[in-house]
Amino acid sequence: MRYDALIIGAGLSGLGAGIRLAQFGKRVAILEKHTVWGGLNSFYKLGGRLFDSGLHALTNYAPRGERTKPLGRILRQLRIDHDALELGEQSWSAVRFPGIELRFSNDLALLRSEIARAFPGEADAFERLLADLPGYELLDGSSSGRSARAELAGRFREPLLVEMLLCPLCYYGGAREHDLDWQQFAILFRAIFLEGFARPAGGIRPVLDLLVKRYKAEGGELRLRAGVARIVVERGVDRALDRGVDRGIARDFDRGAAHGRVRGVVLENGEELDAEHVYSSAGWVETLALCPPEHARGVGPVEPGPLSFFESLTVTAEEPRALGFDGTAVFFNDSPRFDYRSPDALVDPHSGVICTPNNYATTEPLTEGLLRVTLLANHAKWRALDPERYVAEKARAAELALAAAARFAFDVRGKAVFQDTFTPLTIERFTGHAGGAVYGSAHKRPDGKTGIDGLSLVGTDQGFVGIVGALLSGITVVNRRALEGAGSAS
Ligand SMILES: Cc1cc2nc3c(=O)[nH]c(=O)nc-3n(C[C@H](O)[C@H](O)[C@H](O)COP(=O)(O)OP(=O)(O)OC[C@H]3O[C@@H](n4cnc5c(N)ncnc54)[C@H](O)[C@@H]3O)c2cc1C
Repeated sequence: MRYDALIIGAGLSGLGAGIRLAQFGKRVAILEKHTVWGGLNSFYKLGGRLFDSGLHALTNYAPRGERTKPLGRILRQLRIDHDALELGEQSWSAVRFPGIELRFSNDLALLRSEIARAFPGEADAFERLLADLPGYELLDGSSSGRSARAELAGRFREPLLVEMLLCPLCYYGGAREHDLDWQQFAILFRAIFLEGFARPAGGIRPVLDLLVKRYKAEGGELRLRAGVARIVVERGVDRALDRGVDRGIARDFDRGAAHGRVRGVVLENGEELDAEHVYSSAGWVETLALCPPEHARGVGPVEPGPLSFFESLTVTAEEPRALGFDGTAVFFNDSPRFDYRSPDALVDPHSGVICTPNNYATTEPLTEGLLRVTLLANHAKWRALDPERYVAEKARAAELALAAAARFAFDVRGKAVFQDTFTPLTIERFTGHAGGAVYGSAHKRPDGKTGIDGLSLVGTDQGFVGIVGALLSGITVVNRRALEGAGSAS
């Protein structure tokens, strides 16, 4: 079977890329190894309830009619009506460190006033930061080579403010330990503090269903349980000889394209699919691992990203408001210094994210309360546990998570009617991301190019993360390819 394009993964970037390719009239198939779509941001049923696997917040909120912001841009390109998402805005969120809080909402005025209240000497520096923040036209997910931590330290006299600004941005998109690249900081600062949070009514499932419907309406093919076992890459010289080019010329051509050209994929069931172009959302390290080693060697990182998470989901009969919490998300840290790194223990309960879907202004009535707590987690430590210890440690980590929630937001201990947890191993199993690295490799590839002709990266390792970021990534890489001309060098 020959396709113009194959996409590995039906996560948000794969769906975004698929819709765009189908709109360009390409014969395209998305190949997803699991039985459901959505990838890191999917859904599952347990105990008679439907859960979102990842959704805390749709970042990059923009009201209807805002066509230049990322949300407006993706909806326009994918031809989806803003109203179809039924977005409900957050109430407020906060960064909480010992004895100090900074609240923010979708209205920047709140954060401005909070900074003026908590750090009066820094209000002007904060305004200068806002004025100097690179605009979207300059942000393509590439690395500026500048440390956001160092940049902020040069702008603010209060180290605590630097830590407090970094905390939510790292949790919602930091692929490397301790710091963010300045470009990534600007993308995340805009997504979280300037645009803000919303929740689609019904959670992520209606959004995903909408995307799949759009994709199929454009003629795209979605194949589930279609894991890609190998990416087929041929040497330039083979291809040239196939075309009857003189052997000597073919060799010269091959030297210019040392890493070869993609020809298609082989599925786990042995089926071979040919394609002019393959777009992979599996991650950079993971994609290269699917390629023949002689072609993959030296073209990308070999280590997976270092950061993964533990998450507990606790259902309560009462809604959070009844338990004294009317906020949306709290990013907490229990000391003045924020230590964003893979912990030495299974989890690090000293910092994390506490959030609830209940306190959005959604049109959808929620009958129960849900508390989600995210903590940094060490993949290798979880991997080393035997099955019995694994179950016991999940329960212990959930207790630590709920104790942190009680200290920094609200207390649901003794009130759970249902609980679920997931670890870095769950993330790895359901998304294929090595090491359970939610935000992928610490090295990004903004142009999506892999060094192998016809093979492009989309999603997390292209440089954009989150729901809106992943969709934007799929769209951007495809648009760029279309501009360069189909089938041109990757
Ligand atoms: C716990 C958690 C909470 C999050 N919360 C939020 C949030 O509140 N808001 C937000 O905006 N973002 C959130 N994110 C991040 C967001 O989910 C991701 O950035 C985004 O979904 C990534 O999309 P993607 O398409 O790049 O990759 P993925 O979603 O990882 O998609 C990759 C897909 O490829 C498939 N695949 C991999 N290998 C193969 C193969 N060999 N063959 C076939 N298929 C393959 C996988 O099964 C997967 O479906 C969260 C993530 C997690 C884990």
